[in-house]
Amino acid sequence: MKLRKAAAASAAVLALAATATACGSSDKNDSGSSPSGGGKIKVGIKFDQPGLGLKQPDGSFAGFDVDVATYVAKQLGYNPDQIEFVETKSADRENALARGDVKFIAATYSITDERKQKVDFAGPYLLAHQDLLVKTDSDITKGTDLNGKKLCSVTGSTSAQNVKDSIAPKANLRKYSGYSECIAGLQSGAVDAVTTDDSILAGFAAQDKYKGQFKLAGLKLSNENYGVGIKKGDTELEKKINAALTKMVADGAWKTAVEKNFGPAKYKYEPAPKIGVIVK
Ligand code: GLU
Repeated sequence: MKLRKAAAASAAVLALAATATACGSSDKNDSGSSPSGGGKIKVGIKFDQPGLGLKQPDGSFAGFDVDVATYVAKQLGYNPDQIEFVETKSADRENALARGDVKFIAATYSITDERKQKVDFAGPYLLAHQDLLVKTDSDITKGTDLNGKKLCSVTGSTSAQNVKDSIAPKANLRKYSGYSECIAGLQSGAVDAVTTDDSILAGFAAQDKYKGQFKLAGLKLSNENYGVGIKKGDTELEKKINAALTKMVADGAWKTAVEKNFGPAKYKYEPAPKIGVIVK
């Protein structure tokens, strides 16, 4: 009984706090003109991708995208404690920006012509490549081996689209909402392979719980130029973020971030891309 009362009381406090926050802010994703004055900025990342964007058991966030987002936010005038990270799954990213749910997105978000119809991008800030993850004893070694096999990727990703368009149109493609679900499927045997960026797959393969179970095929099936997604038409913000990314590379913070986040997975990252230059 006592516990229930306490829970009800804390729920009431939370509700009050939520109302106060909602009333205090005029913009949905940042609160105003004076960033140093204590406003918040909402930033979209992935929550389930080790090495890139991962929500940790203590509620904090870690990964290369998190470090890029934190650096960019700082250049825009927001300290780390002023960032509110919001999960933006692959299929939700364009809509999250269009609705104004987040100010910008750093979530393994490839710059593509199709997406540029709906959103704008700063960057690129990383070049990755599509690859396959299979069980250590698998005989799948190339894209065409996937035809007729159960393959997992994620709704709204370039990875799923590329499978259908070119890599293995006859694969039995299962689309889940996040890569962590694909990896669980690979472990249980529900799927024979997972496909997405090598940067993402390397992070999963290196997790303690999967050590020794999976291998990357090592195929560079595509070029994925990661950009920072912003609302279409916000050229002012695009310029500021491009300047932030340029500075991040120049002052060594980019290098520190790739080493810290990709080193443990032994992911062989490409050199820092040139801002505004897309590798086709
Ligand atoms: N980089 C690819 C994309 O933007 C795959 C990774 C992802 O789904 O986030 O679609």
